[in-house]
Amino acid sequence: MKKKKIRIFDTTLRDGEQAPGFSMNHEEKLKMAKQLETLGVDIIEGGFPIASEGDFVAVKEISKIVEKCAVAALARAKKDDIDRAWEAVRDAKKPIIHTFIATSDVHLKYKLKKTRTQVLNDTVTAVKYAKLLTNNVEFSAEDATRSDINYVCEVFEAAIDAGAVTVNFPDTVGYAMPYEFGEMIKTITEKVKNIDKAVLSVHCHNDLGLAVANSLAAILNGAGQVECTINGIGERAGNASVEEIAMSIKTRKDIFQDYYADIVTEEIYKSSKLLCNITGMHIQRNKAIVGENAFAHEAGIHQDGMLKESLTYEIMTPQSIGIKHSKLVLGKHSGRHALKSRYEELGYELSKEELEKAYKLFTELADAKKEVFDDDLIAIINNEISGIKGQYEFKRLQITSGTEIIPMAIVEIAEDDEILRESGMGDGPIDAVFQAIEKMTNMKGELADYSIDSVTSGKDAVGEVVLRVIFEGSPFVGRGASTDVIIASAKAYIDAINRAVYSKAKAGEMKG
Ligand SMILES: [Zn+2]
Repeated sequence: MKKKKIRIFDTTLRDGEQAPGFSMNHEEKLKMAKQLETLGVDIIEGGFPIASEGDFVAVKEISKIVEKCAVAALARAKKDDIDRAWEAVRDAKKPIIHTFIATSDVHLKYKLKKTRTQVLNDTVTAVKYAKLLTNNVEFSAEDATRSDINYVCEVFEAAIDAGAVTVNFPDTVGYAMPYEFGEMIKTITEKVKNIDKAVLSVHCHNDLGLAVANSLAAILNGAGQVECTINGIGERAGNASVEEIAMSIKTRKDIFQDYYADIVTEEIYKSSKLLCNITGMHIQRNKAIVGENAFAHEAGIHQDGMLKESLTYEIMTPQSIGIKHSKLVLGKHSGRHALKSRYEELGYELSKEELEKAYKLFTELADAKKEVFDDDLIAIINNEISGIKGQYEFKRLQITSGTEIIPMAIVEIAEDDEILRESGMGDGPIDAVFQAIEKMTNMKGELADYSIDSVTSGKDAVGEVVLRVIFEGSPFVGRGASTDVIIASAKAYIDAINRAVYSKAKAGEMKG
């Protein structure tokens, strides 16, 4: 029997990005889109173009740079939305207009103030209109799990007749149970007469922690597409996570023997890390597949079993998601060539200039600590190389702090070729450093979140500071890494300021 392909529709950049704390700037969205393509997702939903200028521009650019994946743009079942969505995706090799309207009585009554007949008519009108623009039209029945299933069947049938090639059945509020959700999907496949002319899709939310379970139940009952996100990010408790779905299908070959997805699972870890680095949002240590503890075996009894035979406690290998086994890599005497090839193994292609910069940072780091690990190298890339080319650059600092004195800091930063120097006083040394930086940059921010993590182990580990600062009402993430936590904090704060300055300039460009 021929295996059935399960299409992976990734909505990290739309559903994920619209969740609080996960906003990304333009360059970050493009970088993420490129990685999603490498990961092997079939469709990238780039945004909701009518919702904001930022979404529109992002979808337009993603459409130009993505080659293998289809690119989808979201639109309500309205002409203006659909026009805007089409304008954004029309340059894509495989453009998709994804239009939606709610079908549950509660949404009809309170949100849309429309009858079922009106919603059915709107569906047909919207799909027909989108179909004039592109053949690839997906229709979603928002809040499908709380809708009358017979009505959803009727709407789907009409949508397919009007030209929809994908019909999506979302559990918008994350309410369904796996068994029940599977039954619903089965009902759709049985009752919608023309369902063979379309791919049935699902989009599950994780409010009860069941998004992945529901998606898997849907696959076994006839769904051919799942909508999901990296690390399961998304509205409220999030969406189904790409990595959990892909690894479930791969690991439980006995159950999913008739199905496959085209995800390059070895790219999972990198994709997850990239998203964390871009958004500054860490994932819980015990997160399935990509959490830091997912492949760690601490308990003695497990370690003993693992040493004898890894299959005793390991249902999948770290290598299968792209975690390299040997963590120890380079030392002080490693050359450029060794660094370059190590980066290539980790999946990073560096240009000549990037390699030079990385090598300089690497030798500084190797001087400060004996051993340089893969995570250190990734931190160099994420924090120093592929970040925004900022207006300000950290140079050096000096602090005095203790129990009986007021903490003071002197900080030097570079703005183009000019060196700026300023002092600051604060509640603690980090606060003093921030005060000094604010004076030099004329940026007054409000620190909303601050976290420090050791990227690698040992007392001389690299500390990575991730913070979130509010400038003029908008939040900006900043990151910095160093073996010295105060320096890491200073770099992170300057990074956040650079992002704020950049975003302001970009907004000015768009208006002008
Ligand atoms: Zn959603």
